[in-house]
Amino acid sequence: MKSSEYYNIAKEIIPGGVSSPVRAIQPYPFYVTAGHGSRLHTADGTDLVDCCGAYGPMILGHSHPAIREAITKQLADGWLYGTPTPAEITLAKQVTRDHPSMNMIRFVSSGSEATMAALRLARGFTGRPDIIKIEGGFHGAHDAVLVQAGSGCTTLGQPDSAGIPTDLVKHTRQIPYNDIESLTTLLDRDASSIAALIMEPVLGNIGPILPDPGYLAEVRRVTSEHEVLLIFDEVITGYRLGIGGAQQYFGIKPDLTTLGKILGGGLPIGAFGGRKDIMSMIAPSGPVYQAGTFSGNPLSLTAGIATLNWIHDHPGMYSDLESNAATIEEACREKTGSFVRIGSMFKYYFRSQPPRNYREAKESDTTAFRQFWEKMLKAGIFLPPSQFETNFLSVAHTEQDIGAISQAYQTCI
Ligand SMILES: *Cc1c(COP(=O)(O)O)cnc(C)c1O
Repeated sequence: MKSSEYYNIAKEIIPGGVSSPVRAIQPYPFYVTAGHGSRLHTADGTDLVDCCGAYGPMILGHSHPAIREAITKQLADGWLYGTPTPAEITLAKQVTRDHPSMNMIRFVSSGSEATMAALRLARGFTGRPDIIKIEGGFHGAHDAVLVQAGSGCTTLGQPDSAGIPTDLVKHTRQIPYNDIESLTTLLDRDASSIAALIMEPVLGNIGPILPDPGYLAEVRRVTSEHEVLLIFDEVITGYRLGIGGAQQYFGIKPDLTTLGKILGGGLPIGAFGGRKDIMSMIAPSGPVYQAGTFSGNPLSLTAGIATLNWIHDHPGMYSDLESNAATIEEACREKTGSFVRIGSMFKYYFRSQPPRNYREAKESDTTAFRQFWEKMLKAGIFLPPSQFETNFLSVAHTEQDIGAISQAYQTCI
């Protein structure tokens, strides 16, 4: 069957025909039947160079032999026990070693779950009701954070969602990214009711949008001063900007961190962790409840351990990824839009200056993006289908792939 035929069936039985809104490419999405290395193979018989990487997790490419082998080996011994396993200790040790700010960690099944739990924990620990998020920051699809939440919502023109009581969202305060004054003003006035600031250190779901020099350090200083917890949502940047994520890259120590995506090697996972005095508040050692049937499931842990092992065995991969992204940037040097890049995260904005926040990103010419995106797909390059989703490279992209991507950028913009 072809993609269009699958989609005709899907849209009758799955809302919008998709399991997550960003996948709803018009007139119909392509259906993938296999992924190997840097390539996705579609039901229509085409082969695409993948620069989406499942929106972040697939930093080793598709069907990586080391991960496949680890998963296969675990499968022989079962895949869910409902008990503690040695694997969770192995992964917990590795992640806390990689992130000095994380003294303790708990595993969950998605990034959304991780941010939900971290926010409850912050409220439980401080006894304060409100949280601050950054406009355009995305922290998953749960009520408290689905307010001006980046790509999926932005692309659909719905900064909010129906079904979220305004009563609830009033506890979510918003400030623009790269604007320390807004944060200072808010905290000077209301810190006594604010539990935490949750933020992506690099906005990944409207961009990437990079922090101004010194911005994150100021955020850390001001939040500490007001005893407001700083939660770094590193679901994208964790193991993407380096082994220690954005907190290592920028030298900032958050109170709590959320992880996901790469951490599961392509299987569902999330994690949150941080200071021991805060994490000790989690049940059963403390009064903040958090639980999950699939939490710490052996398959995701196994894939995660294998992924982190591979990364630790190939520490040069980050500079290789970075120089590949730089090659693509170089190909866009003469263009009038702006190319934004950090490590292997990048985006070409149809806007003359790199955006510094959500509002500026929204000024991009999305019609031009759409035309560009279609040309890229025809040229065999799959980019996330939104001006506001980050592109990702994997270690599976070959020199030829990078050449083909660069060439396509040159001709399609
Ligand atoms: C993807 C993402 C999430 C949500 O993770 P899921 O696994 O999709 O629930 C949370 N925060 C950030 C920064 C993300 O990019």
